[in-house]
Amino acid sequence: MVNYWYKNAVIYSLDIKSFADGNGDGIGDLAGLMQKLDYLACLGINCIWLQPLHPSPWKDGGYDVADHYAIDERLGSLPEFIKMTELARERGIRIMMDLVANHTSDQHPWFKDARKHKNSAYRDYYVWETERPRYHRPNIIFTGKQDSNWAYDKMAKAWYYHTFYPFQPDLNISHPKVQDEIKNILRFWIKLGVSGFRIDAVPHMLRKKGKEQLPGDAHDLLRKLRTFVDEQGEDIVLMGEADTQHESYSDFFGERDQLHMLLNFHLNNHLFLALAQKKARPLTESLNELLPNSADCNQFANFVRNHDELNIGQLNSTQQKTVLNAFAPDNNMRIYETGIRRRLPTMLNNNPRCIKLTYSLLFSLPGTPVLRYGEEIGMGDALALSERNSVRTAMQWTDGKNGGFSNNSSSWPTISKGPYSFKHINVAAQAQDRNSLLNTLSRMISLRKAYSAFGWGQYEIIDCEHPGVLIHVCRRDSNVAVAIHNFTGDTVDVSLSLPEEERALFTEILADQAYEQLNGKVRINGYGYRWFCRWPLA
Ligand code: MG
Repeated sequence: MVNYWYKNAVIYSLDIKSFADGNGDGIGDLAGLMQKLDYLACLGINCIWLQPLHPSPWKDGGYDVADHYAIDERLGSLPEFIKMTELARERGIRIMMDLVANHTSDQHPWFKDARKHKNSAYRDYYVWETERPRYHRPNIIFTGKQDSNWAYDKMAKAWYYHTFYPFQPDLNISHPKVQDEIKNILRFWIKLGVSGFRIDAVPHMLRKKGKEQLPGDAHDLLRKLRTFVDEQGEDIVLMGEADTQHESYSDFFGERDQLHMLLNFHLNNHLFLALAQKKARPLTESLNELLPNSADCNQFANFVRNHDELNIGQLNSTQQKTVLNAFAPDNNMRIYETGIRRRLPTMLNNNPRCIKLTYSLLFSLPGTPVLRYGEEIGMGDALALSERNSVRTAMQWTDGKNGGFSNNSSSWPTISKGPYSFKHINVAAQAQDRNSLLNTLSRMISLRKAYSAFGWGQYEIIDCEHPGVLIHVCRRDSNVAVAIHNFTGDTVDVSLSLPEEERALFTEILADQAYEQLNGKVRINGYGYRWFCRWPLA
């Protein structure tokens, strides 16, 4: 039987180098992560998505991979990795890792060899042109920071294609040997205990580059990878990053023969629009467009923020202006035209009610929740750092040296000043506070996993007379969960249009505060949230 564990998973995304330094060299590592597994188990997550941990020059946060079959020695070793997966599994935590196969670092041995001569065995691993390509900007990603998709290499005496930065040459994925390498990479890490892969830049992998193009239907590549991982084990999951038009999302699922999961950029953008407009409608519309059949085993993975900029490219220009004006009023907060390089709390002016409302949505909406390290304590950003490094500062564990991240004086960047400093925002302080964001999120995670209607159920939006309130129901057989969210700052009383016999069996399992019982109506505070549940009674 196929194992659909991902439907009820709560994923925690972390970058090892900025999470916890176990050996005192100033950089996070596997030893540090192993020390924190109990913390993660306590938080309640059951899957860790590791950002790239391979050898890399770290010119793009590790997404410039220099060897897919090894661990960067600053982060640890392969034996430590195996030990970490075992320790995680003991705690019911699976490991998912990034598969970066659209491109490599220019320091990858394949590229170094490919540059040397035309007859290199690796020459065809990359995309080359001997003449300067006429159309040299077919797919610019970093608007304002990147002016071409082609770079000239003197040693190769040829131009090579790069979707992203010039130090990240694209692999020629149409080449059978490159496809074999991708399978070898998957097999290698599955054997070391990995349960899934977050595939980086999926639409770019399938795209035509120069003269190189996947033959026939480009999605056949994803079908091949799905068949391959299914052969390796019933619980290996492929989760794709495809920040593209939402109309094409279903193409990446195929007939349940491509990706298992897709990161939900459309819902993410509409979540921020709903927060900016203080209206439920953007979320309702996004859900209705994306999930005509939410009980399907194709699964979206929902998130609030990730390691990149918040790219609001899924919204139209008027909606983009609304979100940018609300959450990134200064130029320094923006990047690549439609991106915001901030974390959630700074965007919400550190309003604890708005922050908790947002995570209540993340953990109750249909789709697997993905939390990024530091979100559970409300970490801020460091706009003084360049580009997306603003949201990649070290995890804040205590109010001590380097926030408890490392005892080394040249530590990974930390936030040591201002209201978001580790002196004010850290795990140790919040663990002792019943009402902290950490304990609130931990409670949400535990309820989300326990009430399977959330992860497995069919969802339905319930009509609500107030435009600022979202009511949704998740049903799995006779298990029912209802969540109510108020996007406005005002207290309102709303009707719950559900059969009386169903309502009578509801128990409130979570709320922003205690509420009195009203006759026929349900009260919800400004930026409040309430979860109700019923389960079969004997
Ligand atoms: Mg270290």
